[in-house]
Amino acid sequence: MPESSPLAVPASPPLGPGAVLGMLGGGQLGRMFADAAHELGYKVHVFSPVDGEPACQVADFKTIAAYDDFAALERFAASVAAVSYEFENVPAATAAACLRHAPVRPGERVLHTCQHRLREKAFFASAGIPSGKWAKVATEDDLRAAVATCGVPAVMKTAGGGYDGKGQRAVKSGGFAEALAAWDALKRVECIYEAFVPCVAEVSVVAARGVSGKTVCYGPILNTHTHHILDLSIYPAPDFSDATKAEAVRMATRAMDALGVVGVLCIELFVMKDGSLLANEMAPRPHNSGHLTINAFRRSQFHQQVLTLCGFDPAEPGFVSPAAMSNLLGDVWEAAPGGKPDFAAAAQVPGVSVHLYGKAEARPGRKMGHLTALAATPEAAADAARLARERLTGK
Ligand code: AMP
Repeated sequence: MPESSPLAVPASPPLGPGAVLGMLGGGQLGRMFADAAHELGYKVHVFSPVDGEPACQVADFKTIAAYDDFAALERFAASVAAVSYEFENVPAATAAACLRHAPVRPGERVLHTCQHRLREKAFFASAGIPSGKWAKVATEDDLRAAVATCGVPAVMKTAGGGYDGKGQRAVKSGGFAEALAAWDALKRVECIYEAFVPCVAEVSVVAARGVSGKTVCYGPILNTHTHHILDLSIYPAPDFSDATKAEAVRMATRAMDALGVVGVLCIELFVMKDGSLLANEMAPRPHNSGHLTINAFRRSQFHQQVLTLCGFDPAEPGFVSPAAMSNLLGDVWEAAPGGKPDFAAAAQVPGVSVHLYGKAEARPGRKMGHLTALAATPEAAADAARLARERLTGK
């Protein structure tokens, strides 16, 4: 629902420093939001089902309760001036309970759209944002039609609930039989069947939009993944024409305007051989690929999240330097001698800063932190980020 919906709290003056901002979710995105909020003079109240999570460690106030504990939610929302969230699978009833007491930004419409891959792809079509071929799969007949329309290879994804490649199966060359096996593996829940997009690269644009409609964008940021998890992000994205870069920003802005977003949203795009772009998915919050904005710009994606949540226009980002960000997964801890990464050695690499999220247990695939390298060119920054990560494991 856009901000003008009858459920939304009427527009009010922006919230000045000292206000308490509510954050649903205790993960690293909530922690970096709190860091930015503190820099700007705000206080943060984190609502998290589990204590000790990254954002809980830096919150001024915390509520530890389940997302369906409506009494706790109402107390939380009544004690804050505005509410945002750090993951897109916030249950609709949870957001609605908060909305009775405070504005929830981004609003219900964008949340509803981003929570469901079929709604998201239908939105892209309605907003004139190109994406690959796709079809809905709710029955075996749907699946047969989807394979006929979209062909193979393809990717089958659960319509709701997936992230970082979870809830996805590749369909390579086996046609309907293989697609059926993939759907069985996904427990025959409602799915989207997407034709495999033969892209040459993947990029993202992180956008922030204020109540007035003013929008600023970071990107496109060039992303590479390992095992479906973001590995390295580079900005500015080398190798693409100005026309491709401008189109990426136009697509992000179109999505922000069409959904009436107040807050931060990231759109992920496939870059095709001819420089054209196809939309993959969106996240209505700061994004892993945008972590480099903390160092590469004077105002990060998290500053923009705070400003727009408070009712201000987003600030000019203030580009500082080409940058690269590499994720630090629990695998780094596993590979390091004695399970202890050598942070001192990584910090010796010029231009590198290490960011850790305060997670106690390092597990393979778990995002424990990231490091960002600044350098004269994006390629040099990528080399420095790779080198610093190798140093962590004593290579
Ligand atoms: P997603 O969770 O949808 O972002 O998918 C995770 C990753 O899988 C993407 O970043 C791509 O690398 C890959 N992927 C997902 N969907 C497709 C597709 N239709 N064609 C090609 N690659 C895909």
